[in-house]
Amino acid sequence: MQGKCLCGGVRFTLSGEIPNLYQCHCSLCRKVTGSSANAAFRIDLAQLSWNSGEELVQKYDSESGFKSHFCSRCGSPLPNLTAAGSAWWVPVGLLEETEELRVAAHLFVGSRAAWDVIASSAEHFDEMPDAAALTDLLRRPADQ
Ligand SMILES: [Zn+2]
Ligand SMILES: [Zn+2]
Repeated sequence: MQGKCLCGGVRFTLSGEIPNLYQCHCSLCRKVTGSSANAAFRIDLAQLSWNSGEELVQKYDSESGFKSHFCSRCGSPLPNLTAAGSAWWVPVGLLEETEELRVAAHLFVGSRAAWDVIASSAEHFDEMPDAAALTDLLRRPADQ
């Protein structure tokens, strides 16, 4: 599966089993996307390889640990390492050929914007669910 930013300068390839995605409706994700929610998933370190544009990656790491890595030319959010450094966080809007992806969870629904209407039957969580429970939810069954 291929991913690229808006200007096409940053490109990467994902391999292996691609999980379901979640949308995070928290106030930080609203700021960083300029929209109602982030749409993303996490994958193992070995599943992502950069094809081009690593020199374009700009990094903002807040004191709270919230990260925003983005293309310095076009502003697209970019994959970055999770806090523990054990996985990649991948913003799904960058990906091509996403017909098989589906949203499995909505996070921080309790703090969503008043105008954010979530028309989805995926599971809703008022805050961040237990990490193991979320991982289970996002893992796609083999028969899908
Ligand atoms: Zn770009
Ligand atoms: Zn969030």
